[in-house]
Amino acid sequence: MTATDTPNLTADEAAAIVNRHWGIRPDRIVELGSYEDQNLRVDAGERSFVLKIAGPSESRPSLEAECEVLGVMASRGGDVIATPTVVPASDGAQIVEVGGHRVRLLSWLDGVPLTELPVVPESTLRELGAIAATSALALAHYEPCAPVVRSKWDARIAPEIVDEVLADEPGPTEGERATLLAASAPLRELLASGAPTPPLQMIHGDMSDWNVIATVTAPGRVQCTGLIDFGDITRTWRIVDLASVCTAIACHDLEEPLHALLAVIAGFHGVAPLDALELDLIWPLILGRAAACGALSSRQLKLTGDTRYTIDQYSGDWRALEQLLGFAPGLPAAAIRATCGADPWPALMQGGEVLPVVVRSAGDDRRLDLSVGTDELHDGDWTDPRIVAALAGTRHAALGRWGEVRVTAAGAPQDRAPATLHLGADVFAPAATAVRSPLGATVIAVDEREVTLELAPERCLRLSGIEVLVSERATVTAGAVIGHIAERTDRWPDHVHVQLTTAPGQPGLGDPHLRDAWLALCPDPSALIGSAVAAQPPADATAGRARRESVLAGAQKLYYARPMEIVRGRRQYLYDAGGRPYLDMINNVAVVGHSHPRVAAAAARQFRLLNTNSRFLYDSMTEYAARLAALLPAELDRVFLVNSGSEACDLALQLARVYTGRQDVVALEGAYHGWTSAVLEVCTGPDNPVWRDTKPPFVRVAAQPDPYRGRYGDDVAAYVRSVADACDEAAADGGVAAFISEPLLGNQGAVTPPDGFLAGAYEAARAAGGVCIADEIQVGYGRTGVDFWAFEHEHVVPDIVAVAKATGNGHPIAAVVCRAEVAEAFGRRAPFFSSTGGGPVSCEVGLAVLDAIAEEGLQDNAAQVGGALHEALIALMDDHELIGAVHGRGLYQGVDLVVDRETREPAAAQARWVCERMRELGIVDQPTGDHGNVLKVKPPLCITASDAERYVAVLDRVLSELRAVSPASGERLA
Ligand code: PMP
Repeated sequence: MTATDTPNLTADEAAAIVNRHWGIRPDRIVELGSYEDQNLRVDAGERSFVLKIAGPSESRPSLEAECEVLGVMASRGGDVIATPTVVPASDGAQIVEVGGHRVRLLSWLDGVPLTELPVVPESTLRELGAIAATSALALAHYEPCAPVVRSKWDARIAPEIVDEVLADEPGPTEGERATLLAASAPLRELLASGAPTPPLQMIHGDMSDWNVIATVTAPGRVQCTGLIDFGDITRTWRIVDLASVCTAIACHDLEEPLHALLAVIAGFHGVAPLDALELDLIWPLILGRAAACGALSSRQLKLTGDTRYTIDQYSGDWRALEQLLGFAPGLPAAAIRATCGADPWPALMQGGEVLPVVVRSAGDDRRLDLSVGTDELHDGDWTDPRIVAALAGTRHAALGRWGEVRVTAAGAPQDRAPATLHLGADVFAPAATAVRSPLGATVIAVDEREVTLELAPERCLRLSGIEVLVSERATVTAGAVIGHIAERTDRWPDHVHVQLTTAPGQPGLGDPHLRDAWLALCPDPSALIGSAVAAQPPADATAGRARRESVLAGAQKLYYARPMEIVRGRRQYLYDAGGRPYLDMINNVAVVGHSHPRVAAAAARQFRLLNTNSRFLYDSMTEYAARLAALLPAELDRVFLVNSGSEACDLALQLARVYTGRQDVVALEGAYHGWTSAVLEVCTGPDNPVWRDTKPPFVRVAAQPDPYRGRYGDDVAAYVRSVADACDEAAADGGVAAFISEPLLGNQGAVTPPDGFLAGAYEAARAAGGVCIADEIQVGYGRTGVDFWAFEHEHVVPDIVAVAKATGNGHPIAAVVCRAEVAEAFGRRAPFFSSTGGGPVSCEVGLAVLDAIAEEGLQDNAAQVGGALHEALIALMDDHELIGAVHGRGLYQGVDLVVDRETREPAAAQARWVCERMRELGIVDQPTGDHGNVLKVKPPLCITASDAERYVAVLDRVLSELRAVSPASGERLA
């Protein structure tokens, strides 16, 4: 075939054909890509079609078969997958012969080919697998009218296709040849082995992502809805289509290629369970299909030259080959088996008599706990090998466990989860300790400080961290010394890593999400050590979730569609059960960072000494109260210590009511101040969705002073007037006791009231005889950077301040600080006592937090990093229309996502998608605000400039991805 054989009608010629034979007058004709045919989109009024001009290799019977199969699909798979229908020409013909070409007109399917999408979410990948299965089931008993011809896209014959292309003159380069042979080898071997194979049936035959049509049904929600191009239907194994979609997905530049393939396979398995033969075949078939595609696209590139289509095809196919051949030996097949509920590695070597690789004395089997939840490493100690070395002990031997998820391998947050699963065991022992072969074996590889022995077929032993004494291909007897433990140069403790594998070349650490597959490929080496070294398998997360749901009240919600299991925190990072670190952008409670050593030590020390209640005398309570008061304006000099923000706001309301002798409270619309009955009455936002129906008459609601979306725009006088009006309403009913607000609207996502609002509102409330309560629970404590308290920004002094959250860095401490006369009025009524409020542990913790903020310069850091972050987020608005505004200051900000900058319609679904995607890229974020469309930016104050830069870069990436998978982009591109 030559390049010129591919049909190449002009738009005018195509329009004339459609007009003459179908009586349709096209408004627009657009070229669609194709391999050897010509496909054109034809728009005529409201209707759209695909005009297909067959290439020379397409025989008439094969086109007739394609027309027939479209009918079968419509009747058997039509409720799940949409497929095109044939539009008969005016004379009733399905195929029209024009100027040597065979032409058909098909109905158009709305949506975009999956190739057009830069990201394919996991749910879509599963659907893709399900589509392949549904199509296979629909065609299972279909027998075509015409004989079926061999299809070059049939992965079953991939080795033949590869051989044909290798015989081309000029053929592929040497490098390409090697890759094609490597990828086709497993299928070649399997076919040559004469092993039984699955039955044959008709299938789609070219199920690539060009041919699967997706529809964006909601922001970020891509549904596979249609299947096109049945021109390659063929009779083969039904899993050939599954292999095709897997290969197609591997053409994408994937973060976690194996996880993506597993999702597709799981989708297929869910609809049409894979049997034993198919489980053995699927991976060789995927590789075979990739090899055939790579071979054919390199040939096509030579034939047609570098058109955009052929170049894209070639680079995609070769990217797939690279990704598919890049996995560790045996891992994909084992992971596929594990995903489908089969034994990941069925042919395990049985135990037998073996000698330990290191002779150890009794009592030398102390286990070293390097897991994510280890109690032996704190505050990042795991990042320092010297500390791990000290833990291992220099003289005593210790053992490192197999199957342990190691925090030592966590690293910094990245786009991908780190490999943390320890695939061998470690014997920690002094350098020069002899290392022996546990069985008679052959040395199959000697590398830098590492040797691999073959103990039996498919059973290798990797020993690393040793000075090797044997050479490659030597045979060794059981018990022979093959090396000595080497002196480490990386400050890790001296040890030998003992790893059993089914094939040489495995890494020492694997992906914990493929645990079953990895541990099947690298089995438990306990027998070679003479001691049980297997770590406890992780608890079953699904069962844990079910248990939680059976005991906890359902009102207590979890973050994310798939809740995160967080095991450890350190500074601004959270570590999940797989040891993956995440940048935490939402935990303003952990103000000085998670698990701060100073705070932890203060709590532990005081807990060991004493924790009683505040009716005894102890200095820390006085000291803490004095330190808090000293941070506030001089007028605020009386402190109450309680446990939570809700309790603090409740007490603040009681103080105001007792002091003024009045009941009415003015709150802002959208407010949240806590959950006690009294406080909930003044909550007027999404956390109390029934507030309009349940609001007592003594609660007065003023307009939310939101310059971006508020009722009065940025008209500060109007918002102040609204507060004054609310006070006036109260006056008619006994008068206002208090005006309560967050000085910066934290629950709205850091919305900053217009300048002068707080001053005006306080003046109005005081003029009406009320007191002013500042709820600094979210926004205070140095978070806004320039000021320690958010109210300082407005140069006002409240009468009562409620503080919580950051006060204890996670320990329940809260405080109410007020003017002396307010406290005295309250004290005259009754004594105040909160059992654990202001207890010795709380006060020590509170002091440690204040010390850390001061000594570590965290308020300054909030100003510096927060300022730069604010500018970077504002700059991001140039590229992303979705960002309507960036609210807040310091390290309390909010990224307000909007559907339309003009209307400012909140983009809540988009915000949810962004947060889910950010999590996949190692960042914890959540939407907030009245409409759930504002991204929280309130990390621990110890966040670094580079963390902030990464946040912005990831957000930039995610917003770009979202643009491509949003309904507006749902128009199918030509
Ligand atoms: N006030 C504000 C502004 C809050 O954000 C919260 C908690 N989200 C509270 C009060 C209540 O605090 P707590 O959850 O500690 O009871």
